[in-house]
Amino acid sequence: MIKITLPDGSIKEIEKSSTPLDVAKSISEGFARNVISAKFNDKTIETLTPLLENGSLILYTFNDTEGKKAFWHSSAHLLAQAIKFFYPKVKLTIGPAIENGFYYDVDLGEDVISEKDFPAIEQKMIEFARGKYDFKLREVFKKEALDYYSKENNEYKVELIENLDDGTITFCDHADFTDLCRGGHIPNTGIIKAVKITSTAGAYWRGNEKNNQLTRIYGISFPKQKMLTEYLELLEEAKKRDHRKLGKELELFTFSAKVGQGLPLWLPKGAALRERLENFLKKAQKKAGYEMVITPHIGQKELYVTSGHYAKYGKDSFQPIHTPKEGEEFLLKPMNCPHHCEIYNAKPYSYKDLPKRFAEFGTVYRYEQSGELHGLTRVRGFTQDDAHIFCTPDQLDKEFKDVIDLVLYVFKSLSFENFTVQVSLRDPNNKEKYIGSDENWEKAETAIINATKEKGLDYVIEYGEAAFYGPKLDFMVKDALGRNWQLGTIQVDYNLPERFKLSYKGADNKLHRPVMIHRAPFGSMERFIALLLEHTAGKLPLWLIPEQAIILPISEKYQKYAEKVLHLLENDEIRALIDTRNEKTGRKIRDAELNKIPYMVIVGEKEEENETISIRKQGEGDLGTFSIKEFVSKVNKEINSTLEQF
Ligand SMILES: [Zn+2]
Ligand SMILES: [Zn+2]
Repeated sequence: MIKITLPDGSIKEIEKSSTPLDVAKSISEGFARNVISAKFNDKTIETLTPLLENGSLILYTFNDTEGKKAFWHSSAHLLAQAIKFFYPKVKLTIGPAIENGFYYDVDLGEDVISEKDFPAIEQKMIEFARGKYDFKLREVFKKEALDYYSKENNEYKVELIENLDDGTITFCDHADFTDLCRGGHIPNTGIIKAVKITSTAGAYWRGNEKNNQLTRIYGISFPKQKMLTEYLELLEEAKKRDHRKLGKELELFTFSAKVGQGLPLWLPKGAALRERLENFLKKAQKKAGYEMVITPHIGQKELYVTSGHYAKYGKDSFQPIHTPKEGEEFLLKPMNCPHHCEIYNAKPYSYKDLPKRFAEFGTVYRYEQSGELHGLTRVRGFTQDDAHIFCTPDQLDKEFKDVIDLVLYVFKSLSFENFTVQVSLRDPNNKEKYIGSDENWEKAETAIINATKEKGLDYVIEYGEAAFYGPKLDFMVKDALGRNWQLGTIQVDYNLPERFKLSYKGADNKLHRPVMIHRAPFGSMERFIALLLEHTAGKLPLWLIPEQAIILPISEKYQKYAEKVLHLLENDEIRALIDTRNEKTGRKIRDAELNKIPYMVIVGEKEEENETISIRKQGEGDLGTFSIKEFVSKVNKEINSTLEQF
C-alpha cells in the first residue's frame, strides 16, 4: 500500500500501482468521470500512470487550467491524426495547448489548407474521438525514435529528438496514430465532444524566419457541444467590441503600411480624445504636486548603457542610429526614466526639496516582432503617461500610497471597475535576472505589499513578473476576449538612482541616494484607449466621448436655429454637431443611435418659437423639452457624477 495526499490534506491509502483515475473513483464515480488530468509530486502525469510511491496528487477536471491544458493538448493529437488522414505526406512538427485551444504547426509541402477544408477536418476529428481510443504513453530509445521519424522523412521531429537525452523520450499512441510527446493527456479521445478549427496562419519552424515556413492550424475543443456554442457566441460579441473595428468606425486612429507596422496614426477625433484624457490626468497630477517635463525621442547609447537597458534589451531593440560625421550612436527612446534621472541631476537638492515628481507624456519605441503586433494593444511606438518620483527612503511609503490613490481615481473616473491588482515580485530562484542588491529588493517588495494592504486592495502575488530593476504593482484589465492586459503600473526602484549617482543632501549634511518610483496610471495612451473601447463597446463616458450631442433640424427651414443652438452649446463647452443631411428626422435619429451619440437635440418650429430644444437620449428615448441652459446643466451634472475632482 502507498499513501496519497490530496490537496485538502486528506490521505488515501491505496494499493501500489493504482492510477490517478482509481484514486478519483475512490472519491466518487461521478467525480472520476470528470477527471481528465493529474499532477503527482508536482509533475504532470497521465491519468492512467501507475502510482508507485507515497506522494501528493492533484486531480483536474475541464474546469481547471491544468485540465484544459491536457484536454487541448490531447485535441492537438487528434487534429494531427485528422490532418495525416487527409494529407498523408504531411510532416508534423509541434502542437501545443494555448490559452484558448491549441494549434499544430505542419509542413504541408505543396498542399494548402483553407477555410473550406475546416468542416471536413472537424468531422474527421469527431469521428476519431468517438472511437474512444486511450492515449497511451510509452518510452522509446533515442535510436528507435530517430528511426521512426527518419523513415517518415520528417526532419523536424528528427531535429527535436536529436536535442533530447536518451532515456527521456516518449511516444504517445492512440488508435493507429503515434506522436512524439512528453505526456499530459486526458484518458481517451471519447471525452472530446465538440471541435472547431478556427484559423490558419504562417509560422516559421522554431520561430526563426530563416527556417521553413509552416502552416499553423488553430483549433479549440470542448467536452460539451453547448460549451463550444457559448464560446463562439463570446467570440462574436468580442468581434463587435474589437477596438480595431470601433477605432475605425469612430474615426479615432488608423495604421498605414507606408508609415510602418505597429505605428498608430491618430485621426483628429482620436487626437482630441487623447488630449482630453491627458488634460484630465494633468489636472489631477498638478494637484498631487507633479511638475511636467519634456525630453527628446532619442538618447545616446551610453545613456542606456548606464541605465542597464542596453545590456538587458539592446540586442532585441531597434538598433542604434549613427550620425553621418561624428560617429555618434543614438537609440530611439525605449523608456523615459534615464532622461528623467538626468533632469534630476541638473541641480543639487536637499532633503527639504524632496519629493520631486517629474511627469511627461513621453513617446517611446520598442521593437516587437511583426507577428506580435495587435491594434493599439501591442505597438512599436506608444506614449506613456509617465512620471518619476524621487524621494527620501522615509517618504517612500506615503508617496507609494498617494500614487495608488491617483491610479484608483483614474480607473474610477473611467468606470473601470473590474480590474485586478497584481504584486509582481522577483523570481526567488532566478535572482541573477535582476539588477540591484538583495537588501534593496527586499525593502522595495515590503514597501509595495504594505501599501497595497493598507489601501485595502485585493491582490495576487506573481513571482518572476517584476521589472529587471525593481518590483511593481500592476493594475490588470480584461479585454473583450477575456485576456488580461496590464494598464496602470507603479514600480519602486533603488537601482537607477545608484546607476545615475543621484543624490540629495540630508539633514546630516551628507549626500544620500533618493529612491525612485516609476508610475503610469494609464500605462500607455494607446493600450488604455484600446481597452476602454473594448470595455465600453464604444459607449465612452460622456466627458470623454468625441461628440456629446447631435442637433437634428426637422427640415432645412430650421438650419439657422440649429446653428444658433450649436453656437450656444459650444460656448458652454458641449461638443456637438449638426446633421445637415436632407433626410427624414426618423432616419437621422436612427443613425445617431447607431453612432452612439449620447444626446439628440431636435429643433423645429415649436422649438424655434419658444427658444427651446427637444432632447432624446441614446438607448433611452424622448426626454422632453428643455431650455438650452437646462440642457447644459443636465449634461454637466451627468459628467460631474462620473468625474469627481481629485
Ligand atoms: Zn501528447
Ligand atoms: Zn520609468
